[in-house]
Amino acid sequence: MTGHTPAQDQKPSLMTAIGRGLRFRCPNCGQGRIFRAYLKQADACDHCGEPLGSIRADDGPAWLTVLSLGPFLVAITFFVSFGHFPLWAALPVAAIAVTGAVLLLLPRIKGAFIAALWVSGMGTGAGKAD
Ligand SMILES: [Zn+2]
Repeated sequence: MTGHTPAQDQKPSLMTAIGRGLRFRCPNCGQGRIFRAYLKQADACDHCGEPLGSIRADDGPAWLTVLSLGPFLVAITFFVSFGHFPLWAALPVAAIAVTGAVLLLLPRIKGAFIAALWVSGMGTGAGKAD
């Protein structure tokens, strides 16, 4: 008897895993960290040992971040273009706001993306020749 119950071997639901990924937590246990640095994946979960480093999110998180922020960027562009603010003040404020939003959103989206790939069993690159 190893102490494993069938419930421990079941993967969590997609939404549970994505929620854990959004909080930078392991999609399997929800306890360990998914990143060892800002965007560097941990090789394995430090709590349950799930191998997370082999999951390749590639450009997916960057694509989803741009797609998510696109409507806001258009709104900011119109606000700066047609607002009555001086350009020397509006552009730096807009640039800082956009950069901050990207820096805040990108790791969360990457965590969610990795969690979704983990649940689906895709993204490991297994069987690829390169
Ligand atoms: Zn874990």
